[in-house]
Amino acid sequence: MTHIITGLCMRHGACAGVCPVDCIVPGQPIEEWPTYYIDPAACTDCGACVPVCPYNAIWPEESVPDPLQPDIRPNYEFFTRGPGYSARPSGPSRGK
Ligand code: SF4
Ligand code: SF4
Repeated sequence: MTHIITGLCMRHGACAGVCPVDCIVPGQPIEEWPTYYIDPAACTDCGACVPVCPYNAIWPEESVPDPLQPDIRPNYEFFTRGPGYSARPSGPSRGK
């Protein structure tokens, strides 16, 4: 499983700063990838990112509320058809 960042994300970046495996990436271009995204292949389900999000945007995949279920797919697609880690401006995580 993985954790999922939903459309409630406001891109303020706290989650990326606490992830121990550095698998959270800000979406770029913003028009196409408007939130941050979690690499489902790297996420260890540690849960550290959940309490630091003031918008309750992050959920374990199995617990994503029904209205936010459509946001699951883009989290996977960002790392397949989307830019994935190459969206980072440089170096490890951060950036808006
Ligand atoms: S902490 Fe929440 S609002 Fe901020 S980037 Fe992460 S998911 Fe988005
Ligand atoms: S659950 Fe843990 S490993 Fe997964 S994205 Fe959040 S902080 Fe990173």
